[in-house]
Amino acid sequence: MVLPQASELSWQESETAVGKQKKRGGPGAPANAVLFLPPVYPIFDEQLSLFNVYTCMTILIIAILCACVIYFFFRNKRFRGATKHEKLPDELKIILNTQVQYYQKLNKNDKERFENQVNDFLKYIRIEGVGTTVTDIDRVLIASSGVIPIFGFPGWKYNNLTNIILYPDTFDQEFQFEGENRNIMGMVGSGYMNGQMLLSRAALLKGFSSSLGRGNAAIHEFVHLLDKSDGETDGVPENLLPHQYTVPWLKMMHQEMHLIEAGKSDIDPYACTSEAEFLAVAAEYFFKKPDQLKHKHPEIYRSLSQIFGQDPALPASTPVN
Ligand SMILES: [Zn+2]
Repeated sequence: MVLPQASELSWQESETAVGKQKKRGGPGAPANAVLFLPPVYPIFDEQLSLFNVYTCMTILIIAILCACVIYFFFRNKRFRGATKHEKLPDELKIILNTQVQYYQKLNKNDKERFENQVNDFLKYIRIEGVGTTVTDIDRVLIASSGVIPIFGFPGWKYNNLTNIILYPDTFDQEFQFEGENRNIMGMVGSGYMNGQMLLSRAALLKGFSSSLGRGNAAIHEFVHLLDKSDGETDGVPENLLPHQYTVPWLKMMHQEMHLIEAGKSDIDPYACTSEAEFLAVAAEYFFKKPDQLKHKHPEIYRSLSQIFGQDPALPASTPVN
């Protein structure tokens, strides 16, 4: 004898119940049908619906929480990625500490910012030697020359420069670094040499020697690039100098040129070559001997401070804008 399975009974009861349920209250429905119907199935349906609603809500809440966690994780990762800098190797930091006076005068935070910018510079600008091997000192001094003029403009990069060619000494118009009549210490390429800068190592090293004059040939060339960033190398970096200061700056420049020509100024006579050269030569002085320039030429110092967004004569130089 095979006993009926509980599930079979249930199924039969279920069929009956459903059938009766459908008939409940219907025309001709037997009165006792209602009596035998336990209110199990409607309640079960309600419970099932409630269960589904709670399940869906729970899944939805978990999904929202997961989405939030993922969003904040990636946002923070992106944020850290944007601000985190690879540290400048210690051996290069030592060169900054011993050979770059501008860096030595910075406060702790600015020193770190400077190191980061030097590191970035060395990553996006290629430096090659012609007739010489580029050393770490060369690389750090070139990068410093590039960072110094733009230190007042966080995030600024030399988009008009891709590589720098270092010659062992001064060179001539034919790029010969041996023989007579070599007087070029640096130049910014144009035409087919667009995006390139040529520098003399001898001039580079001299520029960072505090005992050797007020000049810095490498800074000079980077200032030409800054000047050029508005489209013209004309001594008036219009994207850096507010429009109302343009005319006073040109007037001041021309007055000083007359004084230089008359032998009444300590600014290098090469500044009289053009307005562009005046800006570059005055900038060398501004960054190499800021206290002296501020003392001897306070108005020129103030204009350059506006142009470069820096006040290097202060004990701890910080951007002024
Ligand atoms: Zn020049």
